[in-house]
Amino acid sequence: MNRLGFLKTTLGGLFAMNSLSDLQKLGDQLQKQEVKMPVLFMGHGSPMNGIEDNEFSQYWAKLGRELPEPAAVLCISAHWLTKGTHVTAMNEPKTIHDFGGFPKELFAVHYPAPGSPAIAKETAALIHQTNVGLDHDWGLDHGCWTVVRHMYPEANIPVLQLSIDYSKPASYHYYLAKELAALRKKGVLIMGSGNMVHNLRMVAWDKMNVPNYGYDWAQEMNDTFKKLIRSKDHTPLMNYESLGKAALLAIPTPDHYYPLIYTLGLQDNKDEVEFFNDRLVAGSLTMTSVKIAS
Ligand code: ZN
Repeated sequence: MNRLGFLKTTLGGLFAMNSLSDLQKLGDQLQKQEVKMPVLFMGHGSPMNGIEDNEFSQYWAKLGRELPEPAAVLCISAHWLTKGTHVTAMNEPKTIHDFGGFPKELFAVHYPAPGSPAIAKETAALIHQTNVGLDHDWGLDHGCWTVVRHMYPEANIPVLQLSIDYSKPASYHYYLAKELAALRKKGVLIMGSGNMVHNLRMVAWDKMNVPNYGYDWAQEMNDTFKKLIRSKDHTPLMNYESLGKAALLAIPTPDHYYPLIYTLGLQDNKDEVEFFNDRLVAGSLTMTSVKIAS
């Protein structure tokens, strides 16, 4: 088709639309496609943050208001560990209550965001490092929904999850994340959700409500993590076992740490780093979170 023919067809399509709101929608879609979305690492902490109005959840809500509206959210949650890599591909992901011993209000929460089989397929197609499975069983676990429901309370943005292949080392996840980079330009908000410092066996339960309470090693690692992230020095972060005793206490198992590795893998040369919710909790946890954006 020549250029004039193309224009006529395109304009014909536009004028065939019924209303101004159709035009508005088209404009929104085009705009979403042009924005390179930020990438987030969210320290999610206690599942109770899902229903509490506190400094952490308030910041999540603020991000939801301030970031460009995404076409979808793709969560890499510490709570979906698998063999192989999978992406949720159902139309209506269920809310998973994957915890015990919490009040019934928390179990009553349902977050009815839609899924997006189309974006799931696109995500799977981008990854060449492994064959990504299209999943129809999982849904949204608490690493994802406790955060996202504060960001998008209307549940009007599609939400997907990508699982973490727990048989693989940090470097594998770092390079797998890089293959997702094209999604940023398609308006997908990619979000790792875990905790950088996360040692549940050492939690000082009696200090849960003491603001910013952390053991020396937790404070030390919080500073080390921020220093390395700020200087874009990712190699030691991938080899975290060699960062000394404090690192081994902060990361006794890497489930809550690998989501950070996904976030860092998606950082490009133009991106800058910002920290938020930079707090220690109950001695052996941090909520410290990262926004990467150009
Ligand atoms: Zn968790």
